[in-house]
Amino acid sequence: MGDCGIFGIYGHSEASVITYMGLYALQHRGQESAGIVSSDGSILYHYKGMGEVRFVFNEENLRKLKGSRAIGHVRYSTTGTSNIYNAQPIKVDLLDGSLAVAHNGNIVNAYSLRRELESGGAIFHTTSDSEIILHLISRSKDRDRVEAILTALRKLEGAYSLVYLDEDRLITARDPCGFRPLCLGRMDGVFVVASETCAFDMVGAEYIRDIKPGEMVVISKDGIESMMIHKSVSNNLCIFEYIYFSRPDSCLEGKSVYQTRKKMGRILAEESPVDADIVIPVPDSSNCAALGYAEESGIPFEFGLIRSHYIGRTFIEPEQKTRDFDARIKYNAVRNLLDGKRVVVVDDSIVRGTTSSKIINMLRRMGADEVHLRVSSPPITHSCFYGIDTPTRKELAASSSSVEEIESFIGADSLRYLSLDGLMKAVGTKRGKHCIACFTGDYPVPIPEEAGKEALEKVISRIRLF
Ligand code: SF4
Repeated sequence: MGDCGIFGIYGHSEASVITYMGLYALQHRGQESAGIVSSDGSILYHYKGMGEVRFVFNEENLRKLKGSRAIGHVRYSTTGTSNIYNAQPIKVDLLDGSLAVAHNGNIVNAYSLRRELESGGAIFHTTSDSEIILHLISRSKDRDRVEAILTALRKLEGAYSLVYLDEDRLITARDPCGFRPLCLGRMDGVFVVASETCAFDMVGAEYIRDIKPGEMVVISKDGIESMMIHKSVSNNLCIFEYIYFSRPDSCLEGKSVYQTRKKMGRILAEESPVDADIVIPVPDSSNCAALGYAEESGIPFEFGLIRSHYIGRTFIEPEQKTRDFDARIKYNAVRNLLDGKRVVVVDDSIVRGTTSSKIINMLRRMGADEVHLRVSSPPITHSCFYGIDTPTRKELAASSSSVEEIESFIGADSLRYLSLDGLMKAVGTKRGKHCIACFTGDYPVPIPEEAGKEALEKVISRIRLF
């Protein structure tokens, strides 16, 4: 599963270098492409490329990103194919000047908006939702840029956290449900925005507050101005930001992700205890939950699986995949630690179930006597339409199989999930305050029929590409 990360800064002499560092901290949110657009007050400069931040940028191309304002993006494609055209920020030249946008989320009415714009003569260069937003702005009758952006945003349904940059303003906005995180900070007397607070720590900025659901903030030489996109807003921050996406050193809604994940593990241990010798995480995303499980259960915590941090693209034939080579490239088990032990392995989620099955296989091969899988989230039964790259519903293990069936498929001695109430308790929330649709199917923003067509087009465009 994947997401995207955005960053922006206004009024700093080293804007592009700070944005580069901010993107480094947000790299976990997307590794397919990275880009920065900067402004010196009269020209927008841009550079983007495929791959991780460290491979895309160097001293030379960063030096060319002049000016004291910049926005940046790391991408994990959820809509649109993975190619340089879809890399963000996307920059366009409009009648009244240039504009760039970087976007995290998924617009659920993108299909109908795109069809409408195309029938009015719009030509698209990408398959990304961000270009739709730029077309809406360019066609707006509002003379004022801020009004034009507000009018465009009011036509969007779904999830977006955005940063815009024109010659002299940085504008940031969050959808009325607040699906994706976005926060405001300050460093050296200037404002910064980022998907996660870990980016503030990286650049030495201080966290001020979250951008509110439905809020748009304009930062310019005149200071900072806040306005609401819609009158009616709700808080539906994606609960998966707590479970998996955000870095454990980030805070969401003022709460530590690290501590929240530990609580998930503690509650999981209360709900589903088991007699065992060691507790191990599936690293790295399950480390905190496993620590919480170990502390609550009193069973020693160990790193029984070691994750390789140097994996890039691999070329594995289908028949090699059946021999678990893909899992072995990512993880290896510590044989001496596991030999003859009853092991509790804690993972943050089960999507298709294939990775869990490979990990359990590996643990048994390395000598584990018993393997009990504990999952620090409830069963995922529904796909995400708000910017997270989940498989189709029928590919999700829990959409059609019971816990017992999944337990048998993955080959665990026992399998237990955190309950939905347990998850709510760990996050300190109640139903209706966060999006939990992938566990319940209760989508906060209705999924139009077009979302299905869009998914189909996504597949078709990928086929065309190859
Ligand atoms: S459907 Fe699931 S992954 Fe998507 S926003 Fe809601 S909770 Fe997050």
